[in-house]
Amino acid sequence: MKAVVAGAGIGGVTAALALTRAGWDVEVLERAPELGEVGAGLSIAPNALRALDTLGIGEKVREAATPSQAAYNLRVPSGAFLRRFDPAHDTPLSCFHRADLHRLLVAELPPGIVRTGCAVRSVTPDGEVVHEHGRLRADLVVGADGIHSAVREALWPGVTPRFRYTVWRGVTEPAFTEAGTFTFGRGAYFLVHPVGGGRVYWALAGRERRPGVRYDDDLAEVRRRVRGWPVQQFLDATPKVLHNDVTDLPPLPAYVRGRVALLGDAAHAMTPDLGQGACQAIEDAVTLAAVGLEGYDQARLARTHGIARMARQKGALALTTSRLGYAVNRLGMRAPAAVIRKQTEKLWAWTPPTGPAAG
Ligand SMILES: Cc1cc2nc3c(=O)[nH]c(=O)nc-3n(C[C@H](O)[C@H](O)[C@H](O)COP(=O)(O)OP(=O)(O)OC[C@H]3O[C@@H](n4cnc5c(N)ncnc54)[C@H](O)[C@@H]3O)c2cc1C
Repeated sequence: MKAVVAGAGIGGVTAALALTRAGWDVEVLERAPELGEVGAGLSIAPNALRALDTLGIGEKVREAATPSQAAYNLRVPSGAFLRRFDPAHDTPLSCFHRADLHRLLVAELPPGIVRTGCAVRSVTPDGEVVHEHGRLRADLVVGADGIHSAVREALWPGVTPRFRYTVWRGVTEPAFTEAGTFTFGRGAYFLVHPVGGGRVYWALAGRERRPGVRYDDDLAEVRRRVRGWPVQQFLDATPKVLHNDVTDLPPLPAYVRGRVALLGDAAHAMTPDLGQGACQAIEDAVTLAAVGLEGYDQARLARTHGIARMARQKGALALTTSRLGYAVNRLGMRAPAAVIRKQTEKLWAWTPPTGPAAG
């Protein structure tokens, strides 16, 4: 049985790995001329690590990760902490430079199954894939081609990403011993994760009136927005800054049509406020390989819709500019530890289905 995966991001590579392990003959078509992950850093939560365990690579990923306490080290721009990581009770996130995690996953694939420089143009529900060099037929087509998915556009046309806010990201030179923090201002927050080798990944989320606003000097704009915050050392050590609009997708009523399934950002791009976009792509991938097309919507729709909604709400509150909203936000961070842990643990308590669906 043949599976074609469109897109070799974290979701597509994990899907290819899971399907290969389940006995499928897999071909991955990637638009970019070379394999690799652009972007800065990434945190992986316990739910996704558990998914990777089913592929036999959870331990390898844990070993390569750098633990970050950022989810619990919450402070305000004066530097005062509202909450601190408690090693007796809190679970650190597993952090990576994106390229490192992607490379690790790609190294697990059988050689030669990824075709780069091959954009998928269209698919049909019965499994015909049209790509830039021709066409092929598959028993299963996986649309893992990101938020602007060509696969989705072919079978779920007219779904438009919604602009939420703007984000700058960077990775520093290797100069830091850093545990990880979140600094919350009014209308902006600054995240810091260690990503190994003394490097730090940072992200500044902020408000913008409309999508597409760009600045001549991104670092200068970041400095302007976080003037006086205790994060200057990271900016000083950052050679290159990325700037992106943050968008998400409206909930789709189904992720399966005929022989075609969507996963990751193609299916449910969400704002990064719960650090779950890639984690959900990884959950999708192992679930699809385990339950097949028949069980996939049942297994994934409610969970991913719920997490995307929570992420959007959390982001809206975190970036509020109103005095009252900011006060509520800070109050939430001072909530009893048990309450905060309960929310996180609910999100992280996912267990993978047992399978696999025969390939
Ligand atoms: C600022 C920010 C911070 C984030 N932080 C986190 C975090 O800490 N933890 C977390 O879990 N998630 C995080 N996310 C979300 C995460 O980055 C995404 O959810 C995840 O990368 C999605 O993976 P994907 O494989 O579905 O899609 P993508 O990473 O978008 O990969 C899609 C792939 O498909 C290829 N492609 C596109 N079109 C075609 C085509 N027509 N044919 C063939 N190939 C094609 C692309 O080149 C790409 O390789 C963050 C997102 C942002 C914006």
